[in-house]
Amino acid sequence: MTPDSPALAVRRLVRWFRAEGPDLPWRRTRDHWAILVSEVMLQATPVSRVLPFYEAWMERWPRPADLADVPVGDAISAWQGLGYPRRARNLHAAAHQVARDGWPTPDRYEDLPGVGRYTADALRCFADEMPVLPEDVNVTRVVARRFPGGWPGAPRGRAWDAGQAMMDLGREFCRARAPRCDDGCPLRTGCPAADAGVVDEVTPRTRRQAPYEGSMRQRRGVLLRSLAEDGTARVAIDPEAAASLVAEGLADRKGAVLVPAGREG
Ligand code: SF4
Repeated sequence: MTPDSPALAVRRLVRWFRAEGPDLPWRRTRDHWAILVSEVMLQATPVSRVLPFYEAWMERWPRPADLADVPVGDAISAWQGLGYPRRARNLHAAAHQVARDGWPTPDRYEDLPGVGRYTADALRCFADEMPVLPEDVNVTRVVARRFPGGWPGAPRGRAWDAGQAMMDLGREFCRARAPRCDDGCPLRTGCPAADAGVVDEVTPRTRRQAPYEGSMRQRRGVLLRSLAEDGTARVAIDPEAAASLVAEGLADRKGAVLVPAGREG
């Protein structure tokens, strides 16, 4: 191993993570349900925002069967404030499937509703400790900058630490904007992108998100908030947004009002 070899960099990264990685509740468990809930919540949502939602969710529904027992509208209401409520609906559907059939084998995690390649790899790495690297947009960026020849793999038995470490590195140092190359990055030594001064150039381009203000997301959010707080929302507030919520199974319509999805009566 040369002093700057990618394999050595991963060892340094793992050492850094074991010394400095924050203690997060989903890091204290290998429970598949806990990992799935945390990963779905963490999609496009910062850790600090997710923490109270995660704690409340796991206390209320500690097992898939607990969530499967309640109407999907309860899950969507509990999600209120996290954004992208489709994720709650998918988690509810996944809970149903697991409660009925048990967990799929790791090679079939993608069979669960709402579980794509990234989330399946996160389950494999963070619940099963299999030697895979879950690559979300942050990790993909770190790999492109720091490991341009591709992810070299983790030291034996350290895939979990390496995966978590890459998440932290992408969030804290190797950020999309203003990366902290010379401000404590633990992988600065031998970083090909930083050494060549091409950090921006090698960063994969991501689609800019449309503004939230005035968007359909925001309009739907108004109705969902009313549903979570009052149990109903008047369709007349925004008929178009109401129709889109009903079409996606995120709310039911009863005459002139929306009601939480899946609740009887
Ligand atoms: S030195 Fe810069 S580009 Fe390289 S891994 Fe660290 S933050 Fe990313």
